Amino acid sequence: MKINIVGGGIIGLFSAYYLQEEGHEVHVFDKGDMLDGCSYGNAGMITPSHFVPLAAPGVVAQGVRWMFNASSPFYIKPRLDLELAQWLWRFYRSCNKRQAEAVIPTLLDFNLEGKKRYNDFYKNTKLDIKLENRGILMLYKTAKKEKEELETAEKATTFGLETKLLNKQEVNDFETGTETNALGGVFYPSDAYLYPNILMRELINLLKINDVQIHTNKPINNFEKKGNKITAIFSNNEKYSAEATIIATGSWSAILLKKLEIRLLLQDGKGYSVTYSKPNEKPNIATILSEAKIAVTPMGNDLRFGGTLELGGLNPRIDKTRVRGIINSIPQYYPNIKVDMPSDEKTWFGYRPCSPDGMPYIGRLKGYDNLILASGHAMMGLSLGPATGAMVADLLSGKNIRDDYLKFFDPNRF
Ligand SMILES: Cc1cc2nc3c(=O)[nH]c(=O)nc-3n(C[C@H](O)[C@H](O)[C@H](O)COP(=O)(O)OP(=O)(O)OC[C@H]3O[C@@H](n4cnc5c(N)ncnc54)[C@H](O)[C@@H]3O)c2cc1C
Repeated sequence: MKINIVGGGIIGLFSAYYLQEEGHEVHVFDKGDMLDGCSYGNAGMITPSHFVPLAAPGVVAQGVRWMFNASSPFYIKPRLDLELAQWLWRFYRSCNKRQAEAVIPTLLDFNLEGKKRYNDFYKNTKLDIKLENRGILMLYKTAKKEKEELETAEKATTFGLETKLLNKQEVNDFETGTETNALGGVFYPSDAYLYPNILMRELINLLKINDVQIHTNKPINNFEKKGNKITAIFSNNEKYSAEATIIATGSWSAILLKKLEIRLLLQDGKGYSVTYSKPNEKPNIATILSEAKIAVTPMGNDLRFGGTLELGGLNPRIDKTRVRGIINSIPQYYPNIKVDMPSDEKTWFGYRPCSPDGMPYIGRLKGYDNLILASGHAMMGLSLGPATGAMVADLLSGKNIRDDYLKFFDPNRF
């Protein structure tokens, strides 16, 4: 079958990977050069530990408190925007215990599948994506955060996920790369991490070798419809026919789907990262600084810090106050690491595609037999990339898919 994939981020590329493995003729289209989307500067974490969705109890109250702090990890740009208002309403409605508990087993299994598939991918391709199956540490400084982290760890244990609780001394014995200034930590041995820039580069090369056609600088801006089928996509006046179309356009998915009069609740959660090559000291283990919501990932010789979530309407302005918020948090946890405030050129940002209930959108779009959406992965797109790509391939070949995946990832659910 000839398949068009719109969007060459991690989700589009892993969809291409599994579809070409099944023998399909695959074409990937991207509006840019595919060198700097959201899938590049992220923290590279593969996270079974992130089994609680973004929309969870307590998140709204915390978010409102953060709104009034210019350097906090969360911000919504105030604006009159009906889609934002609808999204926020759905988000508010999803932040409850019943909803969170219902989706946790699904999110956990999908993350575990993602990790397994990364390991299989590495075994099969031997590509040096700097995959480290060494776990991720959650570090906290306050008694309030300790309580929350311990509760999450207890929940993780009930779902069969291994955790190690570390006190102040144990954290320092465990993290041998640099001194830490934390009250304690929870270690999740089943997490992993990799270097996303290398993964993306290697994946693109591999797909090209395997005859996937990659079309860069081809913004897709329209569709040809015949009955309940999409028969072609258009990049300006150029027409590309195919038997099936996959939309994997990350934070731009809602804009593109408007062409088909499909309403998708999606907001772009902008985040920043800064990568230091050869820092003066480096943690040995990938870590999340809990209160500051900053991810710290050693990647080969480099060290990356990533954080903040701004709902700003695809606004490319770099907000230095928030970047400074990230930089200023580092010595509070790692007193010996010296990092300078980066220039704008060295500050990376990406737009996380966020659904209002924190679950991805993966499935067939209502009204069309041959149109699949794979988007809305928010903070977990890298982690869930291979599991999503495999699910897209399974959907197209009519294989059985778990009922909970079909239900909780249904792109028509709002
Ligand atoms: C600071 C930060 C840290 C993060 N850390 C992690 C992490 O540790 N682990 C994790 O799992 N996730 C993490 N994420 C989230 C992760 O990066 C995203 O979920 C993921 O990259 C989304 O992938 P995607 O393929 O859906 O979107 P993208 O990577 O944004 O790709 C979408 C592509 O579609 C293209 N496109 C859009 N519109 C069109 C069009 N009309 N025609 C053609 N092409 C189009 C774009 O050019 C783009 O290349 C992080 C994100 C940020 C910002």
